[in-house]
Parts: sequence; C-alpha cells; structure tokens
Amino acid sequence: MTAATDYLASVRAQLEQRDPNQPEFLEAIDNFFKTIVPVLEKHPEYVKANIVGRLVEPERAFQFRVPWVDDAGNVQVNRGFRVQYSAAIGPYKGGLRLHPTVNLSIVKFLGFEQIFKNSLTGLPIGGGKGGSDFDPKGKSDGEVMRFCQSFMTELQRHIGLDIDVPAGDIGVGGREIGFLYGQYRRLRGAERGILTGKGLSYGGSLARTEATGFGLLYYTKALLAANNDSLKSKKIKVSGSGNVAIYAIQKATELGAVVVTASDSNGFVYDPNGIDYKVVQQIKEVERGRIKDYADRVSTAVYHEGSVWDFDAEYDIALPCATQNEIDGDQANRVIKNGATVVASGANMPCTPAAVAAFSKANVLLGPAKAANAGGVAVSALEMSQNSERLSWTFEEVDNRLKDIMQNIFDESQAAIDEYDLGNDYLAGANIAGFNKVADAMLAQGV
Ligand code: GLU
Repeated sequence: MTAATDYLASVRAQLEQRDPNQPEFLEAIDNFFKTIVPVLEKHPEYVKANIVGRLVEPERAFQFRVPWVDDAGNVQVNRGFRVQYSAAIGPYKGGLRLHPTVNLSIVKFLGFEQIFKNSLTGLPIGGGKGGSDFDPKGKSDGEVMRFCQSFMTELQRHIGLDIDVPAGDIGVGGREIGFLYGQYRRLRGAERGILTGKGLSYGGSLARTEATGFGLLYYTKALLAANNDSLKSKKIKVSGSGNVAIYAIQKATELGAVVVTASDSNGFVYDPNGIDYKVVQQIKEVERGRIKDYADRVSTAVYHEGSVWDFDAEYDIALPCATQNEIDGDQANRVIKNGATVVASGANMPCTPAAVAAFSKANVLLGPAKAANAGGVAVSALEMSQNSERLSWTFEEVDNRLKDIMQNIFDESQAAIDEYDLGNDYLAGANIAGFNKVADAMLAQGV
C-alpha cells in the first residue's frame, strides 16, 4: 500500500457508501482508479488537493420529468437526466442517450468517461452526458418529436453555448437532434452551437455523422502501425449496426480490411465477402429495420439469431460498436480463441473488467473507448468552432483534422505509456494522458 493507493481506496469507499446501487458507474471508477496510481505517486500535489475525490463527484446532476402524448392520445412519462460532470477545461460536452436502460448510474459512468475522452481530443471541452429511459424503438416520428420537444423544454434551462452543449448517443441521431434543436430555437432563438450533430442545412458539420466510425479506424490504424502491423487484408468483426458501426465498416473497407459481421440486439449477420455499409445504412437509418433484413438482401450473408457476437469464425480484429459490457470474461476467451489480437472500442466500456483482464493476460492489444471513439466528440467540437465563426469547412478539411486528432490521441497515450513504463496498456496510457490535463486545470483554478 502506498499513500496513493490508500487515498484511492478511501475515495472509493466513500463512493460505495454514497452510490451503492450504481454498478456501471462504480465499474467505470474502478477501471480508472486501477490505472492512475503511478500518476498520484509522482504528483502528491494531486492527492493533497483531493483532485480525484472532487472529480468523481459531478459538478451538477439534473433529473427531470418528461411527459409526452402518444399517438393514441395517452399521456406517457419518462425520466430525463443531464449530468454536468466537469467543466475544468471547457463547457460540458457529451451526448444524450435514449434507451430503456438509461438511469443515473449509466449517465454518470458515461459522463465520467467523457471528461477524459474530451480532454484527450486536445480541444477545450469538459465532460457531460444525459438521456432518458424513453425507447425510440417502435415509436412513430410524431411520438419521437413530441418526446424530444418535451425533453428540450426542460433541458434548455440548463444548457448554453459556453455552459453545456449536448449531442447524440445511442438512440439520438439526426432526426432527434433536429427535433431537439427546433424546440430550443422556438424557446431561446437560433443559437446554432447549442447542440452538435445537427443537419447540414442548419449548422451541422460535414463528416460529423462519419466521425466516430472513421476515427475508430484512424486510431486502430495508429495502434497497428505502432506494433508494426496494418489493416491491409485484416478480417474484422464489428458488433452493432448504428452510427458508429456503419462508418467503421465503411472506413475499414476503404483501408483494405474485410468486415465480416454486423449485429443488433437480436442477432448478427455474417458475410464472408465483406459487409456492405450502404445496405446496413439503408436498413437501419432509412427504414429503421433490423439487421436480419440484411441477409434477405445480400445473398452471401447468413443471419444468426440470439447473439450480438459471432464466436465461430476466425478473425484478426474485434471492433465492439454496440453498447457497454457487451463482452464478458467468457466471451473474451472465445474472442481470443477465434484468433483476434486487437480489440478497439467503438462503444463506451464494451468489455467487462473480467474481459479486460482476459485480453490483457492473452496480450491482446486493447484500444480503449475514450481514445478510440473520441472522433465523434472531437468533430462535435469542430462543429462548435464552425458555428462560432459562422463558416462551414469542407469534408476534407474536417476529415484531415480528425485524422490528426486521432493520431495525437494515440501519440499522447503512447507518451504516457513510455513515461510510466506501462508496456502495451493503452487504457492506462489514455487515462493518464486525459487525466493529467484535467488535474492541472483543477489545480490551477483552486478549490
Ligand atoms: N456520444 C458521443 C460520445 O460518446 C459523442 C458526444 C458528442 O459529440 O458530444 O462521445
């Protein structure tokens, strides 16, 4: 036991007492604490200023009622959240998630991770997250619109251009952002930079839609290059079929890899010839259908019901792009058995602690979410810059900046690994690089 580990144990014990029923949040905290011990040993001033004890507590957290009228004329009620975690390096920034599993624990885990992810981008954005347990699946456009309007009617009093700038996450894409922005404008005026992920006709950025998936591949490319390898001819399995997965498949294919799977919560499709991202996009984004439909349209594809992951065929790289804790310890061992040597996270915290331990033991290279999927929020910050200067950059300009940002994220994580002699622990590298900037800013700004 060192002073640093004692300190972290006491912060952790206090959290356990305060939030005993927040398992996802405590899991994110544990993953983080495991990796920052050497930083606290090197910087006793962080311990003295109780930086970690302050950082784990959100600056503010709102919970609110979201009433809306369904198509049958019945009044429904959902629960809304916004957690403003840390504004030490810039306004709170982070997505809104609409999914039946959303609760305070999930929003806090995502908000906490967002602090360090946003710091890693090198852009001036703090961490926040929000959402609701509303399930958009099976709802009409009218119902989604009425929900979004009600949600924004409350949220608008908490956000602002230099205060808090929300965006999308699971269940919140272009349609929802449009409805949310429309309601904000009605109530407060046409402040374009108040939300990111907007449509191109009202202040959105080119390449924002593609950014998380493209960024994931730019990061994976950098990770492979540092280990004397490349994406050329690699066989990749992607889970998920939402915004992150679709553009990850596109970029992986463009960079010479073959993506053989995509999935949703019902099952996965396997296509040895490579998944066509345009077909997935048509099914999921235009028709709002299920991944099962893919096999009806592409003759070489086979649909398997019941699992998000294919644990049979051999492959090289796993890109989990569905949701948190989608790979547990047993499944990780099956991934390893299938021959995968790289796992890079498109989703936030897709691997349980047991899965992370299994991958580390087997020397699988793990690209952590806060680094690998930071491209989305990075381009959100570029959208804020364009909104502030009332200009729109070209696709190429945004994409080139995204490439640079992802390479920098990798380089900074690598520098932390080198400084603390962490082998190939890219999670620790990312946590330390992200944490350092936030801790310095907090120290400079006093208590
Ligand atoms: N929801 C995305 C994330 O997890 C993007 C957030 C944003 O663009 O603000 O980083």
